Amino acid sequence: MKNDIKEWDTHLISLIFDPIKAARILNTPLYPSVTEDRRLWSGERNGDYSVRSAYRLCVQELIDTSHLRVNGDWNLLWKIKAPPKVKNLIWRICRRCVSTRARLQDKGVNCPNLCALCNIEGEDSLHVFFKCPSSQNVWSMTSFFQVVSSVINNENEASAIVFQILRQLSKEDAALFACILWSIWKQRNNQIWNNVTDAQSFVFSRANNMLQEWNTVRNVAATPVSNQQPGAACIWRKPSAGHVKCNVDASFLPHNNKVGIGICIRDDQGAFILAKTEWFSPKSEVHTGEALGLLAALNWVHELNLGPVEFELDSKRVVDSFHSSKRDFTEFGVIVEHCKSIFSTYYRNSSVEFVRRQANEVAHKLAKAATLSASFQILVDIPNCIEHILINEML
Ligand SMILES: [Zn+2]
Repeated sequence: MKNDIKEWDTHLISLIFDPIKAARILNTPLYPSVTEDRRLWSGERNGDYSVRSAYRLCVQELIDTSHLRVNGDWNLLWKIKAPPKVKNLIWRICRRCVSTRARLQDKGVNCPNLCALCNIEGEDSLHVFFKCPSSQNVWSMTSFFQVVSSVINNENEASAIVFQILRQLSKEDAALFACILWSIWKQRNNQIWNNVTDAQSFVFSRANNMLQEWNTVRNVAATPVSNQQPGAACIWRKPSAGHVKCNVDASFLPHNNKVGIGICIRDDQGAFILAKTEWFSPKSEVHTGEALGLLAALNWVHELNLGPVEFELDSKRVVDSFHSSKRDFTEFGVIVEHCKSIFSTYYRNSSVEFVRRQANEVAHKLAKAATLSASFQILVDIPNCIEHILINEML
């Protein structure tokens, strides 16, 4: 690196390293905001070491877990609209880890082998949920008895049966099917642990009632929430009276080792004030480029003395980090800290908010154009590429 400025010493690097290594070094972006060297832990987003991430890394990288994978469409399972305890049981059936007597014996537990409900056959998942005469009776009370019967004749593994049946049932039936499995397991536990024999009709009605109650509670709970949360804006809105709005975006074109930055300022009538495009090279990670866009805007706009500014960008990660007090040791975190310090020094009654991409179209177009121009530009007149969007958004 050069001594006095933050730039790679191209000549020196090409003398010391072979061309491939030299190219990799020169393609590593250098950010003026980052002034201190640190060791970072790549397992966490904020660069800070945690036992949780180290454990996750060990499981992913070091331990071969392929033998533990169970084939099947797991999305079918997660989509079931049923209480979490029901989904948990279905997950355990599909992972083949329900504590049936057969499984307990496999694990060395000294317990009886026979099914507690019929006392005829060994108790494994296939038997207790599907083949046991008691469970068969429960299924016969349901409208999807036919589907269940045909699948259990062709499969001999409980997890495969569950996946097969879920594939064939409607959303409502899948939820009831899952609740019945749960109720059958409850019946089995009541028999073993409480010595209580639930009638088969009760097993069915318990599942039905539980599902209905859960749906009622969910509907009540969901109603006010859906009225309250409008979500981020999807169309561009004029800033409050007396404020200006500054939209910012970064662009990453394929086959172009540059990050383009587009910044556009408009007044409270939606009229164009100024725009700026700039770019830097080499390419950074997307969220880092977006943070650099915000930094460029914050650095530039305060010099213009326009009063309160509403900054908007479509990177949720940057906006969330900007408003977060969590420490982040990565280069991205340092750049966001730099943004915060400029914002708190120079801006009063201003804001930095997230908007959807559709509401940030002007900045997006400018950022794209930025990578194609030779130098940085301050645009006093409306550029052609955004004219029609500006007019539409003024209306
Ligand atoms: Zn049985």
